[in-house]
Amino acid sequence: MKQAIENLIYYEIEQQTIRQRDYMYVKNQLYYLIGLEPSYEIMTPQQINHPSDALNQILDTLEKSGRLDGSVQARDWFDAKLMNVFALLPSMLEYQFNHLSSDHKMGWLYHYAQALNYIRMDRILKNQSYTYQSPFGHLEITINMSKPEKDPKSIANALTVKHNVYPKCLLCKENEGFSGNPSRDQHRLIKFDLAGESWYFQYSPYIYYNEHAIVLSDEHRLMHVDQTTFRNLLLLTDIFPGYFFGSNADLPIVGGSILTHDHYQGGKHHFPIEKASVIKSYTYHDLTVEMIHWPLSTIRIRGHHPEKIVQLADRFLKQWLTYNHDALNIKAYTHDERHHTMTSIARKRDEIYELDLVLRDNHTSKEHPLGIFHPHADKWHIKKENIGLIEAMGLAILPKRLMSELTEIKAYITDHKPLNKASMIHQNWIDEIKDTIDINHIDQAINEAVGQVFEQVLIDCGVFKLNNEGKDAFDTFIKAVLS
Ligand SMILES: [Zn+2]
Repeated sequence: MKQAIENLIYYEIEQQTIRQRDYMYVKNQLYYLIGLEPSYEIMTPQQINHPSDALNQILDTLEKSGRLDGSVQARDWFDAKLMNVFALLPSMLEYQFNHLSSDHKMGWLYHYAQALNYIRMDRILKNQSYTYQSPFGHLEITINMSKPEKDPKSIANALTVKHNVYPKCLLCKENEGFSGNPSRDQHRLIKFDLAGESWYFQYSPYIYYNEHAIVLSDEHRLMHVDQTTFRNLLLLTDIFPGYFFGSNADLPIVGGSILTHDHYQGGKHHFPIEKASVIKSYTYHDLTVEMIHWPLSTIRIRGHHPEKIVQLADRFLKQWLTYNHDALNIKAYTHDERHHTMTSIARKRDEIYELDLVLRDNHTSKEHPLGIFHPHADKWHIKKENIGLIEAMGLAILPKRLMSELTEIKAYITDHKPLNKASMIHQNWIDEIKDTIDINHIDQAINEAVGQVFEQVLIDCGVFKLNNEGKDAFDTFIKAVLS
């Protein structure tokens, strides 16, 4: 245990989270938290690759002694306390961040969150990722192994926790340093000004793509999509150069996971949607408007002046909110219930601002009770959740369970091994694909088959399908806004 503590301290010195001068202070604090008697014993530190290499040893020992109850939740709760010993106070962190050059500050902060184990890189590196070549260009598929599995003990513990009293939600600024559940002791925010309002920047602890960031409003208030959204997203691309920013839609089943707190996601990653080709281009004053070749109906506005883009995007939004097309099943309202909204994404490419508007329709039918333009039931065995911002841009985040189910499916196809109960949800799909699978390249073949399902999921979500009728209607819609 003492060796693990020594290794951890030297790892943090190496990562420049702390300095050699801080050694005694940090050691005394860690010993106290763990319940060890400090001594003059001298140890030679050993190299570790992630904080978890040392933390796991410490946590295992504490579990054996009965101090931790054996749940993942208890482990995460305790190691956050240990790592917080290494962390700067928020004001000091902001001071350092603000005094770095714009070329270095984001990389520094990203690295800092990893070194403090707020981003648990050891878990994220277990994710399985590959690309799938679709008619829309390559799509990205990730099977997410990094979110800790909910073990029965953590689930039982969760039942006794009071919900959303303080902090009101998982995004609220009050999570900074929050010591409850989930434990956010070493979580730090960077406060900044967004169009005269206080906002906060943080990295997502789950990192679905490079430098996956979240910005959140100071106030705990509902997500909303209007011209302020478009303006904020474009402004953010200037505040955090090299990052894209996107907003989830503001209706419940469209796919954003947290609607109760106004926020956007961003990061340093080029998503498949960016590389989509252009079906048709239009000119509006000095702006370029494009209908892009993408399964979800997307309008791209490009230009040098953000405010002009905002004004045009707002016209598209207003038109979309009341747009109906009976033959295509597009419906804006049922009585008072609104069905239409947008997922929007901003980026800056070679000094030109771009705003993507992804049209979303939430209405349901007897045939598709969970949404006509949401993933249909025949694909739920791969992905049941609705499609939010990240997936709308072409990156599938698939559940961990799929990993073992796909292994089962491969054994079923190659060795006729019967499926276990969990994998039976894939039976129809397997029957459909098994004759086309090349069993000499089974891994690649199954990856491609999964990619194809994701492609079909995205097609389900498109309101104007890319057939002649859909494209004509989409074209008419765009022209009506531009006229
Ligand atoms: Zn909140």
